[in-house]
Amino acid sequence: MSPLLQARDVGKAFGRTRALRGASLTIDAGEVVAVSGPSGSGKSTLLHCLAGILVPDDGEIRYGGTRLDTLDEDTRTRLRREAFGIVFQFGGLVPELTAEENVAVSLMFAGRGRSEASATAREWLGRLGVDDCAPVRPGDLSGGQAQRVAVARALAHGPTVVFADEPTGALDSVAGEEVLGLLLAAAREHGTTIVLVTHDNRIAAFADREIVVRDGTVAEAPTVIR
Ligand code: ADP
Repeated sequence: MSPLLQARDVGKAFGRTRALRGASLTIDAGEVVAVSGPSGSGKSTLLHCLAGILVPDDGEIRYGGTRLDTLDEDTRTRLRREAFGIVFQFGGLVPELTAEENVAVSLMFAGRGRSEASATAREWLGRLGVDDCAPVRPGDLSGGQAQRVAVARALAHGPTVVFADEPTGALDSVAGEEVLGLLLAAAREHGTTIVLVTHDNRIAAFADREIVVRDGTVAEAPTVIR
């Protein structure tokens, strides 16, 4: 089977800071992979390169047979909206939109019509246990509710890959494990690949495999957790 995602010798600098240097990894379809390592080691930068949000300075990123790093920005954005879902540490919800609209907009970006998008958004808010939050704006949601809405938004359009950057980092451990459990259950049910950045070993233990990033490079051969 050819890998779904591949980074080969990826380098990325911000000014004088070399966030990534020679980072390589391979992820197969349907895997749940935790990317762990100390703060500042380059985990988020690697995730953003894999997701086509950042373009590396050196090396290659492949999604299936496609070189992601050489696509123009419009094509990358379209691919990201259709094939990827993204959950950030602080949700990244649009504050002016209700929870339902936040989810529906991502469905419309992925090409669905307005009424189908609203119905699907409701359905996913229900699956994440936050259907009563549909008319509420992010500022009036608890942290746990906001992350459930963010997870609904990331999954509703049926992405191939969900990228999650410390998705539970702003939550207490009970709320965090609940949100993560819902994300993983939905992903496993749909065969979705998950790339989950975390510095928390307990969170990494939910994954099939852990990849450790240190000093901008993938430090250890991937280990099978289970
Ligand atoms: P991690 O996710 O492991 O905490 P990051 O990928 O966020 O690490 O950061 C790796 C290094 O790159 C850090 O030194 C960080 O300060 C730097 N960095 C990341 N993003 C930027 C940016 N947009 N501008 C400047 N420096 C950045």
